Formats: sequence, structure tokens, C-alpha cells
Amino acid sequence: MTRLRDFSRQLFGREYDRSWMDHARCASVEDPDVFFPKHGQNSSRAKRYCAKCPVLTLCREYSIESEQMYGVWGGLSERERQKLIWKQRRDRRGSSDSVVGGSGQHNVELMAAEEVASYFGTQPLRTVVLPSDLFRTNESSLTGSREMPHETYQELMSGDGPSPTYVPFRNSNLLSAATSLALVIGASSVYFGAHAEDAHNWAYPDCTPEFIGAMANAIYVGSYHQVRLVTPVEWMMKRDIVKKGMALKTPYEITHSCYEGKRPACGKCPTCVERLEAFRANGLEDPIPYDVEGEVVGI
Ligand code: SF4
Ligand SMILES: [Zn+2]
Repeated sequence: MTRLRDFSRQLFGREYDRSWMDHARCASVEDPDVFFPKHGQNSSRAKRYCAKCPVLTLCREYSIESEQMYGVWGGLSERERQKLIWKQRRDRRGSSDSVVGGSGQHNVELMAAEEVASYFGTQPLRTVVLPSDLFRTNESSLTGSREMPHETYQELMSGDGPSPTYVPFRNSNLLSAATSLALVIGASSVYFGAHAEDAHNWAYPDCTPEFIGAMANAIYVGSYHQVRLVTPVEWMMKRDIVKKGMALKTPYEITHSCYEGKRPACGKCPTCVERLEAFRANGLEDPIPYDVEGEVVGI
């Protein structure tokens, strides 16, 4: 029972009926670590124990209700349980739409957004595509004919001024559209994932703290104080975001970053280079596949 007792201490302030724990099969297991597989290990041994446990259903319900973050419970791995916990949170909140806006150049971004929304149980996903004519310019390699830069991480970080992948004032348009939709559907927050590397040396001026402060004010005032702009990673480098995401069990394997809009990702565009470096800095391998000289690696 050590394992169950240890975890029951995490349940701050909430009362749960734990009498079923007296019949837990894992209470007598010699090696409780089996229930806490390390990153990359599989959980099938623990699941085999659970499959013959007389309190499997109660254990599963308890672990979801009490939002247990670690280990195998009720025959479910951390990742499998996380999905159900997200669904439970969503059901408690009531149904809500998610909003994604883009300039329409990469369907793969929309596919990834669908997958992430589905993973977190926030379907249906409402998609708003802004007119691409608004952003078309040969000055940008994302929306025009300018060549996509292939640089090392060090070269990227030493660059100064606008990035070749800057799209004219796009973030303000995306945030404005998201704010309008937030008001329409009754949402109170718009989340914006700009981070410190975007703002570094003014590569993307519409990701800087100066821009975010001004935009946050505009959104709050312009929405009759109904909507707040939330920027949880504004001051973080990508390597810190990867670390935080790992702790939060982010399903990185279904996310997308590549500016080329490729799946497998190109591995050479600025965002692929930054992403790979961020995983490397944490001693981790990025779980998405990359296309390296015609060969798909990393699956
Ligand atoms: S279902 Fe698995 S984790 Fe839950 S009590 Fe039984 S053996 Fe332990
Ligand atoms: Zn890429």
C-alpha cells in the first residue's frame, strides 16, 4: 500500500473514498517501480498487474477524478490518463470552441491543430483563415518568394533585425481575429505563444514584450474588459518551454513547427533548427520525424 498512501498525500483538501485500496493488487507487488516506467519505457508490465486487479474500475475512476499525474493507475499510462483528465476538465467547464487563425499557407499546421485539439478534448475546432493577400510580400520567405534561410542555431541567435520569415504585422491580425471570436463565443482569454527567442534582437517585432504589452491593453480595453491576452511563455527560451512541456506531459509527437510546412519536418528551416536545439539542450530527442537528405529519421 505504500504507493497508494504516498499518492493519497497529494490530494490537497479533497475527500475521496479510498476503501477500495485495501483490495489493490499492486499493494503486494515486490517492485512498485514497475508502476512508474521511466521516459521511453513501456508500461505493459504494470498494465498486466492491473488487468487482474479486482478494483481496476474504482482505481481508474479515482485516478482520473483526483487527477493523478504520475505512474500507471487503473491500467492506464500517464499519457492515456491525461487525455481523460483533459476531457473531464472540459466537461466540467462546459463545451467550448477553440480558435485557430492562419494565413492559409500550410495545411499541415491546421492538421496539427486538429490533432492537438482532439487530444485535449476541445473539439470542435473553429478555424479562421485570414486572406493570404493581406500578407503576401516577396520580403518574406513564408508568404513570398524569398528563399527560406538554412542556418545553424548559433547563426540564428547572432542575427539582428527582422527575420526573413517575418510576416507583415500578422500577429496583430491573428490576435484581433481571436479576440473577436472570444467575444462571440464568450471566452475570457486569448493565449499567445510568443517566446523570448522570437523577440531576440527584434527578429519578430510582433512577438516582443513591447508589442505584447500594447496589444494586451488594446484587447482588454477594446473588449469592454471582457478578454485578456495571456502569454505564458513570453519570457522563456524554447529549451525552457520544452522542459516545462515535458513536465506537463505535452504530446510533442503530434505538434508541428516546420516553416516549410513539411511532415516529416525539414530539419533545416529556422524553426526546425530552434526546435531541435531546444530538445538537445534538455538531453532529449524530438519525437517528431525529420526528413534528412531524403531519409525519414526519428520515428
Ligand atoms: S488497477 Fe492497477 S494501479 Fe489500480 S489498484 Fe489495481 S493494480 Fe493497483
Ligand atoms: Zn522545417
